[in-house]
Amino acid sequence: MEQVRKSSKVAPALKHRVLIVGGGAAGITVAAELKRQNSGLDIAIVEPSEIHSYQPGWTLVGAGVFTRAQTQRQERSLVPKGVSWIKAAVAAFLPDANCVQLSDGRTVHYDFLVACPGLKLDWDKIEGLKESLGSNGVCSNYRADTAEYTWQLIRNFSGGTALFTQPAMPIKCAGAPQKIMYMMADHLRRRKQLATSKLKFCLAGDVLFGVPFFVPSLQAAVDDYGIELCYRHTLKAIDGPAKTALFAVTDKNGATSEVGMRFDMIHVVPPQTGIDVVRSSPLANSGGWIEVDQASLRHVRYANVFSLGDAASTPNAKTAAAVRIQAPIVVANLTAAMKGGAMPRNYDGYGSCPLTVSLGKIVLAEFSYGGKVTPSFPLDPRVPRSSMWHLKTKFLPWLYWSHMLRGGTFDLPHRERGW
Ligand SMILES: Cc1cc2nc3c(=O)[nH]c(=O)nc-3n(C[C@H](O)[C@H](O)[C@H](O)COP(=O)(O)OP(=O)(O)OC[C@H]3O[C@@H](n4cnc5c(N)ncnc54)[C@H](O)[C@@H]3O)c2cc1C
Repeated sequence: MEQVRKSSKVAPALKHRVLIVGGGAAGITVAAELKRQNSGLDIAIVEPSEIHSYQPGWTLVGAGVFTRAQTQRQERSLVPKGVSWIKAAVAAFLPDANCVQLSDGRTVHYDFLVACPGLKLDWDKIEGLKESLGSNGVCSNYRADTAEYTWQLIRNFSGGTALFTQPAMPIKCAGAPQKIMYMMADHLRRRKQLATSKLKFCLAGDVLFGVPFFVPSLQAAVDDYGIELCYRHTLKAIDGPAKTALFAVTDKNGATSEVGMRFDMIHVVPPQTGIDVVRSSPLANSGGWIEVDQASLRHVRYANVFSLGDAASTPNAKTAAAVRIQAPIVVANLTAAMKGGAMPRNYDGYGSCPLTVSLGKIVLAEFSYGGKVTPSFPLDPRVPRSSMWHLKTKFLPWLYWSHMLRGGTFDLPHRERGW
């Protein structure tokens, strides 16, 4: 692997046939699949981080099922052989000039760009959150270190009030805000502490889950554990030392008021947006996401630009499962674009959310654009199953590290089924 280093001399202009921005789930998978198909292709990945995270594992870190180490590897070990790793962040996208500017001032030109820098977790949007996160009972599975703190809090919880928040959509893994709540409730039940605990789910929206088909399964879990649902509650501020959270609450007529809640523990999911350099670039749509055609994943204004993963404007569930399906489509369409051909493949909007309704059972929600239920298995997906727990804890991590990130070609076919 060639690693481009800073130099005090004027660096030669960098140019690559394919430039991938972001070496997360999407970037590494696309690079690996492209290399597998065309070993001579000149590809570079721009990625600032030395650590690559399997974020779907963080929910399990928070519940004490995985260690943090199980979810992280050195980025170096994942960059495919023959792909250049440019260890820097993109500071500006300049698609009219077919180049990006890096945080260290260098410019990298490309013939084709795959932009997949993920999304921004906007911790600053909640007053007092940054100061409190990781102490005072304030945790979040949306960061590896604070997912470890979630488990510390759950392990030591001995009754009291636990709050779980969910901001406005879109967020990555829309089920993650509630998955940890059910697993904590199950831990408390096993320790005979559920009766002396009050769990409240405070959601900005007014539905338990975006795909109605799966709501009864989740409502059954909520009822079973005696969890209180607080719809249209948006977290505004946290006072860690005082252990209070302030919510903006909108009533059914649209009137807003403020409500304070005391907590012994609070699991916070931050508001999420496109990253700043995307939002301020010509690649973005008005919402701040990279504006691609939702079927071809090709940019709607720049024919040599593709995007996938959390950064893309496609209205699917932002998940690694979606990336797994999107990556071969981007590779096929990009390869066709390099030859001047038409786009051969379309993305159907598939995403998946393994909803951990207890320790040991999962409702595997798989769906595509428009909330179409598209399972991979011929089993009623509303039923919590221990087989899906094994899938989540054993098979999917293997699929990610050993298959997807290595550009593997087989996949679990999903399709629409009636129930
Ligand atoms: C708590 C949690 C639970 C989840 N659970 C699930 C689940 O159960 N199932 C599932 O399928 N998905 C789940 N996900 C979602 C999944 O992890 C993401 O959807 C997936 O990682 C998206 O891949 P990506 O490559 O688009 O983004 P990422 O994997 O986040 O990668 C983006 C990369 O871009 C880099 N980057 C950022 N800015 C720049 C820049 N300026 N220049 C260059 N590079 C940059 C970052 O360092 C990062 O490496 C979960 C996520 C979280 C946080």
